[in-house]
Amino acid sequence: MLKQRPYLIELLTAAGLIVAPFVLPWFGFAPNTVNRILVWGLFGLGFDILFGFTGLLSFGQSAFYGTGGFVAAWLLTRAGFPNVVLALVIGMIAAAAAGYLIGLIALRRTGIYFAMITVAIAEVFFFVEFNPLSDFTGGENGLPGVPTPSFNLGFTTLHFTTGWSLYQFLALCYFIGVVIALRIVRSPVGAVFSAIRDNPLRATAVGHNIHGYKLTAFVIAAAYAGFAGGLLGVLQAFMPPDAFTFDTSGQLVMQTAIGGRGTLFGPLVGAAVWLSLQDFLQAALGLGAAWKLVLGVVFVLLVCFLRRGIIGGLADLSDLLTGQRGAREPEESEPEVAAVASAPHAAVADAAPTPVRARPEGGPTGPILQAKGLTKRYGGLLANSDIDFTVNHGELRGIIGPNGAGKSTFFKMLTCEVHPTSGTILFEGRDITGMNVTDVCQLGLTKSYQVNQLFAGLTVRENLVIAALSGLRGKFKLDLFRSIDSIPGLTERVQHTLELVNLASRPDTPVAELAYGEKRRLEIGLALATSPSLLLLDEPLAGMSPRERVETVKLLKSISQGRTMIIIDHDMDALFELAERVTVLQEGRVLVEGTPEEIKNNSTVQEAYLGGVHGVLAA
Ligand code: ADP
Repeated sequence: MLKQRPYLIELLTAAGLIVAPFVLPWFGFAPNTVNRILVWGLFGLGFDILFGFTGLLSFGQSAFYGTGGFVAAWLLTRAGFPNVVLALVIGMIAAAAAGYLIGLIALRRTGIYFAMITVAIAEVFFFVEFNPLSDFTGGENGLPGVPTPSFNLGFTTLHFTTGWSLYQFLALCYFIGVVIALRIVRSPVGAVFSAIRDNPLRATAVGHNIHGYKLTAFVIAAAYAGFAGGLLGVLQAFMPPDAFTFDTSGQLVMQTAIGGRGTLFGPLVGAAVWLSLQDFLQAALGLGAAWKLVLGVVFVLLVCFLRRGIIGGLADLSDLLTGQRGAREPEESEPEVAAVASAPHAAVADAAPTPVRARPEGGPTGPILQAKGLTKRYGGLLANSDIDFTVNHGELRGIIGPNGAGKSTFFKMLTCEVHPTSGTILFEGRDITGMNVTDVCQLGLTKSYQVNQLFAGLTVRENLVIAALSGLRGKFKLDLFRSIDSIPGLTERVQHTLELVNLASRPDTPVAELAYGEKRRLEIGLALATSPSLLLLDEPLAGMSPRERVETVKLLKSISQGRTMIIIDHDMDALFELAERVTVLQEGRVLVEGTPEEIKNNSTVQEAYLGGVHGVLAA
């Protein structure tokens, strides 16, 4: 997410665009080159929202660039449409509509398959432009005679024709594009975009309909592409058929990578490097077609040495110079281990005497969750078999069992990550069997993961904001122009969660710089921030040092006050101390259920765990 300094970036952009015609000629930039850079920059604003912010790499943006361009150009040259701006807007809407339909298909797949579908679809558009629609598009000749805009103000008419005169119009379009893009990336929708880029699985699990948001990003990128395509026709007084070629899509990707993805201005900077190098190498050095060879080498060097592009590199440099890196060093993660390592469980007991858990006052009573006959079969393997399980409101239930007993599978079925082969799950009296994980989270049932599932590119606060947003806004909302700070209750919920998981002193620390124990606490925080009525914790103590265990057990005790929770863990001492009742799973079945005392003294449990060495669990 971009830093929230109100209007600073907008002001700097406006200032840059105003001074550019006075400064750039000194560096040898011709007005036509600057205008082309602006068109690519505008095209790239939408693409960066899709690729840099949402993590969806499309190689098919030429389809929308061409669609918007040809619709606008056709309106202006063949249909006698008088208004250039209106024609550009109609072209943009046509491209967005095409983006919506293609997004519905392409977004059914992820990763390389998504990218390949976009390539294929762009090729189809290219073919359609050249063949079936050549009467409208001019085929390989394109559409000549696209007019430039003029505005009748009553007392005078403003004409934007060529060179620096047209620049004013293009710069205004680019500025509006930047203002809109900034609003989008700073909105709740923009926050969810970043979450999808970093960890789509968790974005889904904390209650966001990521398919809807991906489609939104796709349509936004198509709309920007369509408008920029229209501007290309205006700029060249001719709509060229090569707008539809794969080269166009590829050049956009490369320019964004060179300038820096996820920065909004990366594509503009990349285009400036690309086009000025092209002019310099072709015209000044007379390299002809060989300029691409040099550009290829430059591209490889930049991507290898500036992984986040030119803007990312500059940001890293400024961090280094201002010493921000040092200030963000993670806390020591493993001190004092030796002191407690010899008697970790004694330390757990010493550090936190069992408080009497407060049940939710005046809240509902009776079962919050009921599983009946829950069975999960993977091929020939029975991971869970005929499990009956009930948890009451306000209860803290522990689940133990040897590795492979089916505990994680059981949790996945309860949160609807996987569907049972047979059996039913009732949550607050409602049958949730077969629902999806997003809807179940929206109902108030979620879990923390055994292996951390965080949004690794974001800070602690941004992580929690994403989880809290789903509870406050629902699974899908198009509040594209709303400031994230204006959502009632968000700041309070995030602050409360930060305090609950003991991370209030590090809200602005990037996740990558957290110590392991802090990451585990944030993992729990993500689930908590969705405000669940039933919270499942899958091995919250996994991989922790003894000291971190002590702290986390204390933390779990305080979190459990007034909440309903189910915890899986291997640390039986910790679990016996926390839970009111414990369910033991073995070979996918419920072996026994009872209070911690009953479980400790149960000979069947001792048999299962310790091969019959009675009394060891109770010791
Ligand atoms: P636990 O969490 O108690 O260690 P799991 O629920 O992870 O147990 O696994 C129970 C059994 O189901 C194991 O034998 C495991 O190999 C199997 N299993 C779990 N997930 C899958 C899967 N996706 N495909 C096939 N087998 C699986």
